[in-house]
Amino acid sequence: MTDPVVPQMITLAREARDLTQSELAARIDASQSKVSKHEAGLVAVSEADVEKYAVALGFPPAFFRTNYVRVGAGNDVFHHRKRQAALVSRLRHRHAEVDVRRLHVQRLLYDVEIDVRGFPAMDVDAFDGDVEFIAAQVRASWGLAPGPVHNLAKVVEDAGALVLQHDFGVDPIDAISNWVPGMPPVVCLNVRAPGDRQRLSLAHEVGHLVMHRQPGSADPEAEAQAFAGALLMPAAEFLNEFPADATLQRVLALKPRWRVSVQAMVVRAHQLGRLPKSRYQDLFRQMSGMGWRKDEPLPVAPEQPSLLKEVVALHIRQHGYSIPELAARALASEQEFRDLVLQERPIVRPLRPLRLERP
Ligand SMILES: [Zn+2]
Repeated sequence: MTDPVVPQMITLAREARDLTQSELAARIDASQSKVSKHEAGLVAVSEADVEKYAVALGFPPAFFRTNYVRVGAGNDVFHHRKRQAALVSRLRHRHAEVDVRRLHVQRLLYDVEIDVRGFPAMDVDAFDGDVEFIAAQVRASWGLAPGPVHNLAKVVEDAGALVLQHDFGVDPIDAISNWVPGMPPVVCLNVRAPGDRQRLSLAHEVGHLVMHRQPGSADPEAEAQAFAGALLMPAAEFLNEFPADATLQRVLALKPRWRVSVQAMVVRAHQLGRLPKSRYQDLFRQMSGMGWRKDEPLPVAPEQPSLLKEVVALHIRQHGYSIPELAARALASEQEFRDLVLQERPIVRPLRPLRLERP
C-alpha cells in the first residue's frame, strides 16, 4: 500500500517549476480543472496521474507522497533581501524553489547532528536597539579575530547553518533564508551576485537569524543591514584603516582585504560618522559616473560553501550510499541532485550584471 498523494506537493512542484495550472495541465494532457481539483484535494490522484506529474515536473513519484511542511511566501520565517522590483508571483516561484532545496537538506540531514548553538537569539529591544553590540557579541561567540572576516560562508557553516548557492535568474533577490524547528538555518544566496554582495547578503541574513527569531522589530530590514555592516566591518578596526580624506581609489585599495564593496565601505564610514553627508553623496555620484554601481573594479570571488557536500560525502563514505540512492532519499531526480546538491556543473554565470543599488 503506497502512501496517499499530498495535494500541496503538486502545488509545490508546479510552483518550483514556474508553471501555471493550465501549463501543467497541458503537459499532462488534462484539463486545468482537474489539476486544480487535485491541488485542492477535492479529487483523488490516481497512480497513473502521479506518474504523469512526476514526468511533467521532474520529481520522483515519492515526492508527491511526502508530508512536508512548506514555509512559503508570506511566512515571517522567510526573509529575503530583495530589491524593489521583486514581484509577488516571482517570489512565489522562488520560495517554492527554496522550499524544495530545504526539503533536500532535511532529507539528507535527518541522521546527521548539526549543532546550531552558534546562533544565539538576541532580541534587538533587549539590547536597546544596539545592533553594533549584538554583532560584536556574535563575532566574539564565533571566536573571530579582529578585522575582516576572510571566509564568511565557512564561519556561518561552522556556526551550524547551511549556506546554499542558488540561481535566482534575473529576479532581483539577493538571498532567502529560513529556519524551521528541528532543522539548521538554511540561507540561499543568489549565485549571480558578485562575491562581495553575496557576503553582505549572508551577513544580513545572519542578522535576521540572530535578531528576528520573534516578530515585533520596528524595522527588521534596516536592523539586518546594520548588522551586516557591523559584522563585516567592525567599527574600531574598520575606521582605523578607512582613509581620512577618502577618495574612491583609496577606498578601493581596502577592498581585497575587507572583501566588501566600495559602496558598502562608503555607506559604513558614513554611518559611523567618518564621512560627512556631502562627501558621501559626492563619492556615490562619482561611482555612478564611472559605472561602479553596476560593476565595481577588483571583484571579490564568491565563497564556496561546503557543508551540504560534506554531508553527502559522509553518507557515501560511512553509510555506503550511492548517488542514485541519495537522490531518491532527497526526493530529487538524479539530474537535479547532481545539479543542485552536488553542483557538478558550474552554476551559470550572470547573463547580465545585476543592477546594484546602494546597500
Ligand atoms: Zn532582510
